Amino acid sequence: MNTAGLSPDQIKLQARVREVAAGPVAKRAAEVDRTEQYPWDNVELLKNEKLLGMTIPTQYGGQGKGWLDAVLTIEALSASCSVTGRIAVETNMGAISAVMAYGSEEQKKMAADMVLAGDKPAICITEPDAGSDANGMTTRADKKGNRYVINGRKHWITGGGVSRLHLIFAKVYDEQGNEEGIGGFLAIRDETKGLKITKREPTMGLRGIPEAVIDFEDMDVPPSSLVIPPRGLKKGFADLMNAYNSQRVGAATVALGIAEGAYQLALDWSEKRHQFGRPINEFQGLQWKLADMSIKLSAAQALVYNAARSGEGGFPDMLLAAQAKVFTSESAIQVVNDALQFFGARGYSRELPLERMARDVRMFTIGGGTAEVLRNVVAGALLKKKLPQTRDGWK
Ligand SMILES: Cc1cc2nc3c(=O)[nH]c(=O)nc-3n(C[C@H](O)[C@H](O)[C@H](O)COP(=O)(O)OP(=O)(O)OC[C@H]3O[C@@H](n4cnc5c(N)ncnc54)[C@H](O)[C@@H]3O)c2cc1C
Repeated sequence: MNTAGLSPDQIKLQARVREVAAGPVAKRAAEVDRTEQYPWDNVELLKNEKLLGMTIPTQYGGQGKGWLDAVLTIEALSASCSVTGRIAVETNMGAISAVMAYGSEEQKKMAADMVLAGDKPAICITEPDAGSDANGMTTRADKKGNRYVINGRKHWITGGGVSRLHLIFAKVYDEQGNEEGIGGFLAIRDETKGLKITKREPTMGLRGIPEAVIDFEDMDVPPSSLVIPPRGLKKGFADLMNAYNSQRVGAATVALGIAEGAYQLALDWSEKRHQFGRPINEFQGLQWKLADMSIKLSAAQALVYNAARSGEGGFPDMLLAAQAKVFTSESAIQVVNDALQFFGARGYSRELPLERMARDVRMFTIGGGTAEVLRNVVAGALLKKKLPQTRDGWK
């Protein structure tokens, strides 16, 4: 796609990642989907290519790269393998970015070391009865002497069972039982008693990363595991969700990358496939389809890059991130569906990647804030009103 506005270093990065994506990553994508196994070999590859933890500041061992660098990486990887693209999201954005922005020195060092060694942190917000209305979560952390005791259930947690570091959102209560706000607690799987991976969800797509139910049963952690955002626990949820804007841009980027990959396959095939004595791209019906697909992709890419750029030195702007995710996730589903149509019956076969892409891309109007709820976020920002249905603890 277009390289307008990218620095020479970014163009180099993009070219380098595209090569990795088209080579070893593309080769493994179908198998990752079929076996539903987390691609540890690709994690190693990303680590060696210095594509994990790029956004971590240099003093903690990262490269201090910006969101747009991460976006270019995720976009290129996702065109070949969306699971690998998601690993790049969650090792550069989301939980790790919240810890690097708000954590104590000790928390930052621990999280950075784990991610740079190949751990993809899990961010635990959603509960069976608190999805879009995440503020309604019931997972609670009760202060008991010099400890917090956490109880509750989260579900649809990406990486549950493979991730070691967890950032767990919970309502925090003082010793008298008064609610203080929502905080994020760090816990390491297998080192923290009471953190249990209870079930793996059987998903439609993105099958190489587990989605899990996680139970916290009297999980006992020290106060030093609590990530306290700058405005304290009262505004804790809003600040944590502000960090989550980076993850939203990342999710939009995976959808963009998948759709770009599918579009390219359709474009190439439209020249190779002949019917009625000519390449199928000589039929105007398909030419217009290609034109519409490319327009959607260019617009989506501009929104995603713009949202990423808005976050330099902080986090992506909430309005721009929400606009980018709504438009890109919906357009990407349409583009992949159209691309599959170009292949006729072949598009419906598991021997080609189109059906996998169609299953994978479907997720992105749901996870990380649904398209409907993000429209509420957009409307709230436009109207400058605190809407109750935004999931983000507005302001
Ligand atoms: C593959 C995948 C990975 C995920 N990974 C994670 C993760 O790592 N961590 C995590 O915490 N969560 C994760 N999630 C959960 C995800 O964030 C939630 O699914 C999402 O926020 C929606 O919540 P819900 O599924 O409970 O839907 P619900 O909130 O029950 O919504 C049902 C429907 O109602 C609509 N709706 C709800 N409220 C409104 C409203 N006010 N206005 C208009 N429409 C509305 C929704 O848009 C949706 O269409 C993941 C989900 C998926 C599918």
